[in-house]
Amino acid sequence: AAAESTVTFDGRFARELAELAVPWRAEETPSPELLVLNDQLAADLGLDPQYLRSPEGVRLLVGNHVPAGATPVAQAYAGHQFGGYSPLLGDGRALLLGEVIDRSGRLVDVHLKGSGRTPFARAGDGRAVVGPMLREYIVSEAMHALHIPTTRSLAVVATGRQVRRDDMLPGAVLARVAGSHLRVGSFQYARATENMDLLKRLADHAIGRHYPQAADAANPYLALFAAVVSAQAELVARWMLVGFVHGVMNTDNMTISGETIDYGPCAFMDAFNPAAVYSSIDVGGRYAYANQPVLAEWNLARLAEAMLPLIGQDQEKAVAPAVEVLGGFRGQYSKAWTRGMAAKLGLDGVDESGAAGALVDDVLDILKDGPVDYTLFFRNLGKAARGDRRPVRGMVLDLAALDSWVVRWQDLQPDAQLMDSVNPAYIPRNHLVEEALSAATGGDRAPLQQLLAAVSHPFTERPGLERYMQGPPEDFGSYMTFCGT
Ligand code: AMP
Ligand code: MG
Ligand code: MG
Repeated sequence: AAAESTVTFDGRFARELAELAVPWRAEETPSPELLVLNDQLAADLGLDPQYLRSPEGVRLLVGNHVPAGATPVAQAYAGHQFGGYSPLLGDGRALLLGEVIDRSGRLVDVHLKGSGRTPFARAGDGRAVVGPMLREYIVSEAMHALHIPTTRSLAVVATGRQVRRDDMLPGAVLARVAGSHLRVGSFQYARATENMDLLKRLADHAIGRHYPQAADAANPYLALFAAVVSAQAELVARWMLVGFVHGVMNTDNMTISGETIDYGPCAFMDAFNPAAVYSSIDVGGRYAYANQPVLAEWNLARLAEAMLPLIGQDQEKAVAPAVEVLGGFRGQYSKAWTRGMAAKLGLDGVDESGAAGALVDDVLDILKDGPVDYTLFFRNLGKAARGDRRPVRGMVLDLAALDSWVVRWQDLQPDAQLMDSVNPAYIPRNHLVEEALSAATGGDRAPLQQLLAAVSHPFTERPGLERYMQGPPEDFGSYMTFCGT
């Protein structure tokens, strides 16, 4: 086998936060088969892609070869799931293999999902199946290409094992990379132990890895909370701007780093619909598209509660500053979203509260009259900025409303190049993802590779990829995704 390259794994989380880390080993995988490898990401980590394709490298990617320095652990965390508190969740089917320093000098986690039962597995089998792991691979890499903070996907390896779901399905392990796997739920867990030293070490670990400037603030823990509030306001605004529905914004699925994490029942909406929900278990629509900013704020209130004893020794006096910081979420979210919408309209640098702000409100009214494909509408609007209104006129019924809006908009001289740099041509559309997953599950990985190629460069339209820009065929029906698979 090729050399293991120059990477040394660390176990900093396991060392600094032992109370949150249960040393554990992945279940043996007798016949692993590499389905997809992210060569560029591997290289960025200093991991030789040739090595990762070797038998030992593939065993590393399922957790059966533990590299030097690594201390694989299952992480403990709590969380509010659909509003109800679970005091003990944790990695039931995942392991933090360890941390590595990437080429830019950043310490990142290498994490395995589907690597077998852990002490946190409860009734679960500890396994994952090929389809959903490939879905996470595709969607997370698409998000990264859209410049949205996210965990990355390094590889998906089929285990050769059949996993019992409704049917028997092929098992898989996803290797993913993240700035960290610290969650709002990690703080909730630490707080619930009433171990103040642990809570403080967790916050210090988060500051050290993600917000080092907070250490210099008058109140470093209030500054940490404020930094998370800002990062999440920015993140959720970016989701909204591309029409992304996370689907399961439980507090255990919200990071401290501000990266998108845990791609389960997520989806990009096709037709614009504020009520869009794709998760089969979200019957109340708690995590519907338009609810996401409010739910992020709700989760951040739970983080504030967990952090209160750090923010001030006297809890009464800690509440006011925490509430004030949390109160900043809405303004920061609105600002990020409005700035992003102005850019989608090619109106960078225009006073957002003036004419551009009114144009944003009015374009949403046109979309709401739909159904109008959200992604294609903005991409076609870029063509209108270049003088060709036909594509966008072909999408809307109320042409009088559209035409008068376009006249007002063109008065502000929209920048078509700016529009094309923020309005993607290619997103991982649900029907294309399903097509790629079912082909791959049946052994044909060509559609997966083609879809990955399209969404990895979302802003550059290329000939031959026309079908990747189109909405779903009429017979695709209403799309549902499922958790826990
Ligand atoms: P999620 O909402 O998918 O992020 O997962 C919620 C919790 O369920 C986490 O504690 C997971 O580790 C756990 N979990 C999900 N699927 C399984 C499984 N197949 N086996 C064991 N634990 C699981
Ligand atoms: Mg790019
Ligand atoms: Mg999760």
